[in-house]
Amino acid sequence: MLTLTEIPGIGPKTLIKLNHLDIFTPHDLLYHFPSRYLDFSHIVPIINLVINESATIKGEVIHFQNIFTRSHKNLQKAIIKDSTGSVSLLWFNQPYLSTSIKKGDVLSFAGTVSEYLGKPTLIAPYFGNYQTGKIIGIYPETKGLSSGWFRKTISRQLPQLLLDITDPLPPKFNLLPLTQALFQIHNPTNQSLLEQARLRLSLDEILSIQAKSYLQKNLRNSLTPRFIFKPQPLINKFIHSLPFKLTDSQIKVWSEISTDLISSKPTNRLLQGDVGSGKTIIAILACLLAHLNKSTSLVIAPTEILARQHYQTFSSLLKAPVKLLTAKSKLTQFSPGTIIIATHAAIYQKKNFTDTVGLLIIDEQHKFGVSQRSFLSSPTHPPHTITMTATPIPRTVSLTLLGNLDISIIDELPKYRLPIKTFLVPHPKRADCYSWLANHLKTTRQQAFIVCPFIEPSETMATVKSAKVEFEDLQKNTFPDLKLTLIHGKTDTTVRQKILKDFLDNKINILVTTPIIEVGIDFPNATTIIIQSADRFGLAQLHQLRGRVGRGDQPSFCYLFSESDNDKSLKRLTFLSRHTNGQKIAEFDLACRGPGEIFSTLQHGFPSLKLASLSDTKLITLGQSILHSLISDYPKFNLKKIINTTKKYQTYQNTS
Ligand code: ADP
Ligand code: MG
Repeated sequence: MLTLTEIPGIGPKTLIKLNHLDIFTPHDLLYHFPSRYLDFSHIVPIINLVINESATIKGEVIHFQNIFTRSHKNLQKAIIKDSTGSVSLLWFNQPYLSTSIKKGDVLSFAGTVSEYLGKPTLIAPYFGNYQTGKIIGIYPETKGLSSGWFRKTISRQLPQLLLDITDPLPPKFNLLPLTQALFQIHNPTNQSLLEQARLRLSLDEILSIQAKSYLQKNLRNSLTPRFIFKPQPLINKFIHSLPFKLTDSQIKVWSEISTDLISSKPTNRLLQGDVGSGKTIIAILACLLAHLNKSTSLVIAPTEILARQHYQTFSSLLKAPVKLLTAKSKLTQFSPGTIIIATHAAIYQKKNFTDTVGLLIIDEQHKFGVSQRSFLSSPTHPPHTITMTATPIPRTVSLTLLGNLDISIIDELPKYRLPIKTFLVPHPKRADCYSWLANHLKTTRQQAFIVCPFIEPSETMATVKSAKVEFEDLQKNTFPDLKLTLIHGKTDTTVRQKILKDFLDNKINILVTTPIIEVGIDFPNATTIIIQSADRFGLAQLHQLRGRVGRGDQPSFCYLFSESDNDKSLKRLTFLSRHTNGQKIAEFDLACRGPGEIFSTLQHGFPSLKLASLSDTKLITLGQSILHSLISDYPKFNLKKIINTTKKYQTYQNTS
């Protein structure tokens, strides 16, 4: 195989520029795909141009002018005419165009039609005198290497580069063979072949992740758990003794989890359930099972607030020994069968548990990094592991990135819950909202949260609310006769505990806070949440924040304040105000913003997908079915081969 500098036209300087684009080998260059295409093969008559649509036109240049404005701007303006009409073209700061576009030339131009000074105008269109039939790839550029450079270099080198490619997939799947797909993605013959090439190459991306997940799951299934649990009839008795009846969903999920826990394979299950769906009780049941088997459980929560709350809940419901472990309260001795509730501190004391913990539960798992979550993992005898999250997982994501996990979903809320009424509050209505709140809190004796994105005011983002400033202002000017208290991530732990206890005892009416209250905590008497600068938060996070209310049997309210007039932000906030189902919200977020937030909340290594989209259900099910067919019809097939075709995915790490 060649190195990059052996390719004509690539010297040491160019090499550095290529490295900026993460291109280190000829293979990387081959996988540097155009990010879009201009289709010079389909010419639109000028009279048919539509504003905001892209089009290619062909005609005679009847006017070209280099314009210098009084504000020292430099514009290039042209008018092109075909047999149906004429249209203006406009470029900015490209004076050299005058050497290539001349009055009388017949040329093609491709770009998006915009409205400029009230008229349809092609702004900065690409141009050329390509023969019809040509689809031109536009490559991601870097300083000094233009799209044109990539087009020329890659197409010259393509035959050579393709020599190193072998298609790992057997032909039976009716896909474009890999070498043809790579050829077509750079040099499309026509739209249909380009589509097939994209399909093939995006499928490769998805399949490589799916295969990797599958192999990880296989590997884990070949191990034996640290402790094998026996079924315990006492558990059913305990369930009947609870102050509430489990929902059907909780019963189903417990049956899945308990079956895992008594099997001879190490459990690796993700428990997903919307905020307030009752995941904690499932964790309690699992710990009880471990306890009755004389095995130690370790439950880890991301914040001390939540760990303490769990500690209370577990100790009040269980007769088993429950201990709390935080940075301050160390734990040295405990008997087998103890249930340890811990914060991150557990990770630094792991030598105390490595051999004894048979069950590991990680609550709000998205708050932990990958390495933190795997701190007790063992290459041979891993503990049974249950991770819990309220982040709803789009189906396509569970079929790819999380394919190595078993997933249980609690998809109903306890019966008495009322939906949280959510409103996007326009600026002029804010004062009304505050006075309603003051009144509401006084008459009902219920409580509220007011959440701001930051603790301190930010100089660069003056409109974004900070908890400190808001607190002062609200206490003094808006709610003078209510008790407000400020709590945030920097509040001293002892002070914080006192505040939370006071809030629980209803000695505080309104807690002004930052997103530290986002995860887990349960204050059933808090029924209103106001989220300031709501556009600063992602939808999943807003949904989590909103889940801090609506946990009791009283009607609850969520008010979204926002300074933004950005259409997209408003659309997202409006969606949230109309939907309470976390799954729907996640699917919407995935479709309109891409997988960013889901991955950041799942804390998952972000796969660098170039072509595939994780919201493409069809593609992902196709990948799934090809993977199954490879496994069942080609038992000798080495799945690692599909992982290797797309070498670019090293950034991808998996949860396990
Ligand atoms: P989450 O899934 O967000 O972790 P929690 O486990 O904190 O939710 O449960 C939220 C509240 O619902 C708790 O006060 C809990 O006691 C209560 N709860 C859980 N399951 C039920 C049920 N089946 N019926 C009624 N209340 C329940
Ligand atoms: Mg919880």
